[in-house]
Amino acid sequence: MVMMADSARGHPASYGAADLARLTATVEAAVRAVEDPELPVSIGEMGMVGEVSISSAPSDKSGLVYDVRVTLKPTFSGCPALFLIEADVRSAVTHVVGSGANLSLSWDRTTVWQPKEVAPSGRAKLNAHGVVLDAPGEAMVCPYCGSADIEILSERGVALCRRLAFCAQCRTSVDVMGSARGPASLERSGLGQGAGTGKDLGMPGPVPLQLTQHPQS
Ligand SMILES: [Zn+2]
Repeated sequence: MVMMADSARGHPASYGAADLARLTATVEAAVRAVEDPELPVSIGEMGMVGEVSISSAPSDKSGLVYDVRVTLKPTFSGCPALFLIEADVRSAVTHVVGSGANLSLSWDRTTVWQPKEVAPSGRAKLNAHGVVLDAPGEAMVCPYCGSADIEILSERGVALCRRLAFCAQCRTSVDVMGSARGPASLERSGLGQGAGTGKDLGMPGPVPLQLTQHPQS
């Protein structure tokens, strides 16, 4: 077999399964490392990265054409940051495989993201940022003092996906993220309008940008 070099990247023209697996792992790592636009945590740590797969076929010019498929899971369907995340993921993938790849990026709206999908490292970073996850079956504790004496003050937090709470112990405001209140957040934001009732809230279709209405920290 004649191995032709890809002029841009130096990859052999024909990839074995092991090579493809290595490339896939590199792409997945790059995707997982993309930072959440709103919080100092990566989308991998947030549990937002689903399947990453790559197949390759020889192009008629030189080297290979990669078909890269990336599935992402939104933490919250109405999240205005999805567009930003998408752009960053595209750029991360392009950085690894080059601009000639066919990238198919999709948001999996068939499953609902759960706070338990956040990695321990991500949880620690969120806590350090004053954000606590509200996971079903888990006691919510203050990220600053560890007290469970937290009261939700408002369903309207600093972002659509967050609520404002207050710790009675250390008297500090706390951002709460997660739990089944996602759809309720969607409803109050107006993003679910026209999408019908509860069953549709997970799949609102095109989501208008609301960045000016809800400036992010
Ligand atoms: Zn506290």
